Amino acid sequence: MAFFDLVDFDDHEQVVFCSDKATGLKAIIAVHNTALGPGAGGCRFWDYDNDEQALTDVLRLSKGMTYKNAMAGLKLGGGKAVIIGNPKQLKSTALFEAFGRAVNNVGGRYYTAEDVNITTSDMAIVNSQTEFVAGLDGKSGNPAPFTALGTFLGIKAAVKFKLGKDDLSGLKVAVQGLGSVGYDLCAKLHAAGASLVVTDINQEALDKAASEFGATIVALDDIYHQDVDVFSPCALGASVNDVTIDLFKASIIAGCANNQLAAAKHDQLLKDKGILYAPDYVINAGGIINVALEIYPQPYCENEATKLVEKIYHTLMNVFDKAANENKPTGIVADEMAREIITRGNQD
Ligand code: NAD
Repeated sequence: MAFFDLVDFDDHEQVVFCSDKATGLKAIIAVHNTALGPGAGGCRFWDYDNDEQALTDVLRLSKGMTYKNAMAGLKLGGGKAVIIGNPKQLKSTALFEAFGRAVNNVGGRYYTAEDVNITTSDMAIVNSQTEFVAGLDGKSGNPAPFTALGTFLGIKAAVKFKLGKDDLSGLKVAVQGLGSVGYDLCAKLHAAGASLVVTDINQEALDKAASEFGATIVALDDIYHQDVDVFSPCALGASVNDVTIDLFKASIIAGCANNQLAAAKHDQLLKDKGILYAPDYVINAGGIINVALEIYPQPYCENEATKLVEKIYHTLMNVFDKAANENKPTGIVADEMAREIITRGNQD
């Protein structure tokens, strides 16, 4: 494989392949850019079809973290880790200890935290081997509720911009994925008076959403063409792709999932269809904002974290305004704004 020629290789500063035969650990840590501070981003545990898929994921996700942290106004660069394999079969104390040692060996250029299939208990084990970990219980804790808050406020910003509405009552939202973030987001949307259409591979979560929020359950493939105002991708990436792009009836796409667009071209295609896209790494920055306050030298403060997460509303409004004024897709505009911030960081 010609690594440096990979489409998703973006001059990443460091990519580390880690393995520990005794525990079955196979992981990749990618540090994309440290112009603004140490690379920070969660660790995802996923049963990839092959190692190339895992590499692509970590390269894209770590770059996304550079842009996300810049747009969130954090003094952090971009990094991410993936652990390869089935978490149900592989998870063990020894494996997370091995991962902790791997993170430690990167020497503070990468701070890890929770992402898909990783809990605060897992991170506590990682912390037994390295200080370069955040999102710990008793400190900033699980980032998901902050991600849900930021996503909720981002949906409010998008609704205000696109539909001119200040409140969400009567709004219809399709939520794809009822995990740590998606479920909490549903609770907030329901409390704000929105009606919900949901899907997930987890029947228990679906049943709970139906009974707690009166959510309508639909099959996995039926979530895209629901007659709703907002489509909110909260599962894995690439929900907006060549197949789904023609199915959407929603006029807003705003959710917490990372890498929502399967390809860069979908940004322009959404604009052409008159669909307002809330760039994923801007709307889902709540968790990393909370985590950042644990990494910073000052003691962690929940109120401060909440205030910073609330800024996501205004950051997104700026992106929407700029995109409209310049007649550009929102994703491109967010990238341009992030790159400006990173360039300024490089010059400091
Ligand atoms: P999670 O693992 O708790 O939830 C993911 C949910 O998606 C699960 O309920 C799972 O059953 C469901 N799912 C999986 N495949 C699906 C499919 N094909 N269709 C519908 N549902 C499916 O993860 P999470 O922490 O809630 O994160 C969700 C997304 O948000 C991920 O893309 C993650 O990278 C991103 N994100 C999370 C955070 C955070 O703070 N946890 C922060 C930023 C971004």
